This record gives sequence, structure tokens and C-alpha cells, in this order.
Amino acid sequence: MTTTNDTRDRPRRIFVAGHRGMVGSAIVRRLRAGGYPEPIVRTRDELDLLDQAAVGRFFDEQRPDYVFVAAARVGGIHANNTWRAEFIYQNLTIASNVIHAAWRAGVERLLFLGSSCIYPRDCAQPIREEYLLSGPLEPTNEPYAIAKIAGIKLCESYNRQYGTRYVSVMPTNLYGPNDNYDLATSHVLPALIRKAHEAKLRGDGELVVWGTGTPLREFLYVDDLADACVFLMEQGVAEGLFNVGVGSDVSIRDLAATVMDVVGFRGSIVFDAGKPDGTPRKLLDVGRLGALGWSARTGLREGIAAAYRDFLERA
Ligand code: GDP
Repeated sequence: MTTTNDTRDRPRRIFVAGHRGMVGSAIVRRLRAGGYPEPIVRTRDELDLLDQAAVGRFFDEQRPDYVFVAAARVGGIHANNTWRAEFIYQNLTIASNVIHAAWRAGVERLLFLGSSCIYPRDCAQPIREEYLLSGPLEPTNEPYAIAKIAGIKLCESYNRQYGTRYVSVMPTNLYGPNDNYDLATSHVLPALIRKAHEAKLRGDGELVVWGTGTPLREFLYVDDLADACVFLMEQGVAEGLFNVGVGSDVSIRDLAATVMDVVGFRGSIVFDAGKPDGTPRKLLDVGRLGALGWSARTGLREGIAAAYRDFLERA
């Protein structure tokens, strides 16, 4: 790993792809807080990242000197498992269009957002970056994972062949401001916030939790992820894969209990065994980023309380 800590390296023209999403909007917040020039952003109507020619023209015109690739088709276990073709096609195409156009336009530095589901379903825990491609993937999100692995390999291959400095980060399950609270497509944490809130308003006695409640997941507040991304940019990290997480996990049952407590819903939990559990455990080893001096700041309860405030503001 090569790092430079040179202020001349501080980028001026930063493009955040996917600035309306939970991750992209957190990166924009973090860049503003860090006193960076206002990042370049485009809505989907202004720039369709699935349109290779349009992406090429955009890069030729804008010539950014740093790119965050936070644009992706994302969703929870049900969405990944249902819209499998859309998940693989859109994520593959965004990754190849953006990374290729960035290289062609002379962008030297780029950070690609992946996900912890790229790792094999049954790999040793906590998951180290080198376990990538060491075994079969979790079937419920295999199409998405394959697309994200292709993005990582694009970065790696362009670095090797063309000397670019493209880095990938693999966040664990994320939550926070600007999350998706649609129960058909969301991840578990926002789903539980919404379910607990609505159950409280209706005066229900029960909260339905999918699966068995036994899977273990790690949850990272999205502003902590954005901080890690900007940290890697500022450190001048030039290549490689970095896990981003909090270093500990929680069962879905315990997560549900904490969410209910924060929201103030005092019913019982009912498990819907008709829904899939997905991978049994997914805890990241965060030692590589830790060795550079970064760690997450937001505790789970504190983060859930902040996410719930954001949910209430949007409701
Ligand atoms: P995953 O980490 O890729 O499996 O994605 P999710 O965040 O969607 O699901 C994590 C775990 O939470 C799985 O075991 C789900 O079955 C479980 N879960 C429990 N209740 C819900 C819910 O209401 N929505 C979602 N998406 N998952 C839930």
C-alpha cells in the first residue's frame, strides 16, 4: 500500500456519483464540513450513468480530479433476491461506465463503494479483505455481489495496467439519514424503525421480524462511512480494498429489541419464518483501516436514535 500525505494532493474538482443516495449524500455532507470546494453532482435526469456515451462526455467536460462512486442500485434481502437481473446489470454498467470514463479522462484518483456481501457466504469471521473470492457467495444477493466484485477488479486492473490510484471500500450494513424506509426494498434496520414506529402509532401488540432473528449483522452509521472515505482520500491511499465497519455485530433479535426501545414501542416480537435469513454472520475485520488510524465513532443506540429523528422529520 502506498500513501502520500501531501496537501498538494488535496483534490479540487471532486465528483460524487450518486449524491442523492444515503452514502453519496453523506459524502457530500462530509466534504462540505471539511471545507472542500462544492462537489460536482448530477441527478439521474442530468446524467444517466447507464449511458456509456453520456458518461464519457461528462468526464471529458468536467475533468474531475477525484471521484467517489457511490451510485448503485441497492436494496435489502428481498429486493436483491427479486430484481436480480436489474441488480447485476445496473451495478455492472455503472461501475464499468464510470471507472472507464474516469480513466479515459485522466482521473488519477477514485474511490469505489462496494459492500460486505462480496465476501463468501461461509467465510471465517471477522472477514479480512484477503478472503475475497475464496468461496461461494450468499445466493440471495449473488448478482449484486458479482457486480461489486467486478468494480473492485476494474479498479485493481486499471491500477496495474494504467497506473491509476483507484481504491475500493467495503462497508458493512449501513443506516442513517436519507435511508430507504420502503418495506419491500429496505434493509433490516430502517425496516424495523418504520415497523416499530407504525406499530406504536396503531397501538399494536406485536412487531413482525423476518426470518429467525438469529443472523448476526454489523451496522455502521453512514456518516462514519463518509468520514472513512474522505479519510482514505486525505491519506492519499493509492490502491487496495478496505473494510469499513464498527468491529462488532448484533443478532437481528437484539437489534429489534434496541430499535423498539429507542422508538418507544412496547410489544412483543413475532418471527416470520417464511422470509429468508440470508447469510448467518457478516462481521468485518476492520484492522487494515484501523492500522491507518481510523475507527467508527457512532454507537449503535446513538445512531439508531439519530436515524429515527431523521425518519420522523421525513414522515
Ligand atoms: P442482508 O444483510 O443482505 O441479509 O440484508 P437485510 O438488511 O435486508 O437483512 C438482514 C437480516 O434481517 C435478514 O436475516 C433478514 O431476514 C432480517 N430481517 C428481519 N426483519 C426484516 C425486515 O423487515 N426487512 C428486512 N430487509 N430484513 C429483515
